[in-house]
Amino acid sequence: MNAPVDTLRHNWTRAEVKALFELPFNDLLFEAQCVHRRHFNPNEVQVSTLCSIKTGACPEDCAYCPQSARYDTGLEREKLMAVEKVLEEAKAAKESGATRFCMGAAWRSPKAKDMPYVLNMVKGVKEMGMETCMTLGMLSSDQAVELKDAGLDYYNHNLDTSPEYYQCIISTRTYQDRLDTLDSVREAGLKVCSGGIVGMGEKEDDRVGLLMQLANLKEHPESVPINMLVKVEGTPLAEEADLDPFEFIRTIAVARIMMPASHVRLSAGREEMNDQMQALAFFAGANSIFYGEKLLTTPNPESNKDMQLFQRLGIQPESYKVEESASEEVLVEQLKEAKMDKFFYNAAQ
Ligand code: SF4
Repeated sequence: MNAPVDTLRHNWTRAEVKALFELPFNDLLFEAQCVHRRHFNPNEVQVSTLCSIKTGACPEDCAYCPQSARYDTGLEREKLMAVEKVLEEAKAAKESGATRFCMGAAWRSPKAKDMPYVLNMVKGVKEMGMETCMTLGMLSSDQAVELKDAGLDYYNHNLDTSPEYYQCIISTRTYQDRLDTLDSVREAGLKVCSGGIVGMGEKEDDRVGLLMQLANLKEHPESVPINMLVKVEGTPLAEEADLDPFEFIRTIAVARIMMPASHVRLSAGREEMNDQMQALAFFAGANSIFYGEKLLTTPNPESNKDMQLFQRLGIQPESYKVEESASEEVLVEQLKEAKMDKFFYNAAQ
């Protein structure tokens, strides 16, 4: 095997990435684990809390998404949550030890009339001393700057898949639209959270293409969610064939090698993974999860199960910066004492 790859590179070729995907499984995992250990404590996983601030009735047609108004998935539509309600949720999350609060709205893009509300949410959560993250759809440069000025830390906007496969998944916005939003987010000085979904019927070449797009951005996203498709009845991908779970683990490992300093997030689809698979994903370099009862609108493993798995694997929630150490202590203490009820938090309410 070649020397370990652990420098930040933005010029990955298709042949190089394909070669990583095609390594024998054990070689790939060993390589990914070596890279991981040079950049992170391998026994720490970052945890965030996610809150759906506006659910359903989205005009976009993402083929995997139960929130699209075009598919009948039985999802209850909800209006934009009141600022006070969001802050209550954030407070509860903070009291449970969360240090990052992620707020998601099912929009094509935020309208001018929505902005004052979301800006107040950001300000309020920030004032509580938590890190803030939002996902609101496409953003203009001005909106990105407004969010930054309000105190937003991270913006999530996924590329979903390769440019080639993208047209099979969504028709209402282009790949370039997504890249433009990521540019606006970066230019505003926000941290980027961007990844994709595997198991949507794409080929390995598409997983290669997705990771090339992410790793060859001018700066790697600080956070890279790798989602496994959650098949929701009523969506066009409801009957999609299962992806070989080892292909999912390979995708995590290759992402870890290509973007060694980024947090790779084991995201949607965790519900359908058993403990062994999640442990393998952590070994392959995943070091971030959401906890809470809901992951936007799809079930997330009960948070107490997460904490039990952490205990069994000797994993600690990632250490936080000085100003957040109090929250970290709460989380670590609760983990030790297994006060699991404290971790329950209904992101959908
Ligand atoms: S993924 Fe986002 S943009 Fe696409 S339909 Fe769902 S909520 Fe709308």
